[in-house]
Amino acid sequence: MRFILLGAPGAGKGTQADFLSARYHIPKIATGDMLRQAAKEETPLGEKIKNIMRSGELVSDDIMIELVKDRISKPDCQNGFLLDGFPRTRAQAQALIENQVPIDYVLEIRVEDEEIVKRLSGRLIHAPSGRIYHSIYNPPKIAGQDDVTGELLLQREDDKEETIRKRLGVYHEQTQPLVDFYKNLAKTGFSNEAHISVQPPKFLTVSGLGTVDEVNHKIVSLLEV
Ligand code: AMP
Repeated sequence: MRFILLGAPGAGKGTQADFLSARYHIPKIATGDMLRQAAKEETPLGEKIKNIMRSGELVSDDIMIELVKDRISKPDCQNGFLLDGFPRTRAQAQALIENQVPIDYVLEIRVEDEEIVKRLSGRLIHAPSGRIYHSIYNPPKIAGQDDVTGELLLQREDDKEETIRKRLGVYHEQTQPLVDFYKNLAKTGFSNEAHISVQPPKFLTVSGLGTVDEVNHKIVSLLEV
């Protein structure tokens, strides 16, 4: 199974991606996690990526497309994968089509902006594993500690309110148009710019409101009809 998860930052893509990856035995490819890893490298590229992420802007399409092309060519992706955070622009979506990457489902998780601001400002992550918690909605067993390793949880630098609002603006401008793009592709099976036909993905949409389990159930009931 090959999935794309679409949705604003904080809609719950990462949490649902962990669940779907375990349920369908496919790797989760979270471009944000890959970039956070790359940003730790003390190289000019690492430094550049770190500054872009801090500002809430997007990393360039060229870098992202190469990164994802390389990742999905690895043997563990042969039976499927789940893209969390990619594509984020029309050019990235087009690159998947041009490279004839088959996708079975595009799943959109919808949440209003104000709810997102509330959610992200309480989000905590376990950086080494990418596990995600929320101080109110999905708290760890022991406050401030990862359930599995007991290590400290952190707030992401780009989860500060000002950056969240910036990231939401970027989402509405650059990524949300992909909802219509994929809806249209699912309907017509045709993308204007790429004259290559791939089996169009099915488009599913779900409200991201409710508990993590409730959203899990809604997704499974759409996928396993
Ligand atoms: P995320 O963890 O998905 O919220 O991503 C964190 C940050 O990484 C974003 O705000 C962007 O700066 C960058 N990023 C992640 N995925 C992409 C992508 N597909 N295209 C461009 N920038 C990205």
